[in-house]
Amino acid sequence: MTASTLTSQTRLQEVRQRIADAAKRAGRDTADVSLVAVSKTFDAEAIRPVIDAGQILFGENRVQEAMGKWPGLKQEFPDVRVHLIGPLQTNKARDAVALFDAIETVDRPKLARTLAKEMDAADRRIPVFVQVNTGAEPQKAGVLPDETDALVTLCREECGLDVMGLMCIPPIEEEPSLHFALLEKIAERNGLAALSMGMSADFEIAVEFGATHVRVGSAIFGTRTQTAVP
Ligand SMILES: *Cc1c(COP(=O)(O)O)cnc(C)c1O
Repeated sequence: MTASTLTSQTRLQEVRQRIADAAKRAGRDTADVSLVAVSKTFDAEAIRPVIDAGQILFGENRVQEAMGKWPGLKQEFPDVRVHLIGPLQTNKARDAVALFDAIETVDRPKLARTLAKEMDAADRRIPVFVQVNTGAEPQKAGVLPDETDALVTLCREECGLDVMGLMCIPPIEEEPSLHFALLEKIAERNGLAALSMGMSADFEIAVEFGATHVRVGSAIFGTRTQTAVP
């Protein structure tokens, strides 16, 4: 075992401990917080030790990249689950439905309709999250807060999708807690239980604000040397 594999396993345990501590501070049960280990830019060799250390839930942000490593890893480790956490183009929806166990980035009606059609065609239902652009940033994916209720309704009623919850990526320069609180409020009024929020820099705050899924990459795998395409 190389030094770097020991490091990712140690880091995983540290992140788990920090999640448990944050949950305790918030009076929450740690079991209600799922750690999504974000493995984008890392290959199967780097991911395997993290699976060996007991991690079964992962996140990837590009369909193409995920298709290069996860079919093999899933065969090797049948319990592993992978969420898509990056933007999805409708022409990749079929591949995404075949590979992923949840899609966290539904943000427009056309994508919701395409996913529903592909799930029907494949006879494979996977849950989705609606991604909310809580900071209304022009360059960022996600539905605007004001338009979220309507999209959730469309996903459920018109498309018959299993909407688990909401996901957000707060603006880099703003206090994340404001965005986490907003996401929680929108989820609550839509009767949604899952909140995917919090990354390496702010996952403890997210847990305190009710995150059920935290997406943590570099704090587990180390600094990414490749740029991950959003
Ligand atoms: C890369 C990524 C993460 C993880 O980011 P880190 O800062 O490395 O923890 C979480 N969510 C999304 C959507 C990402 O693209």
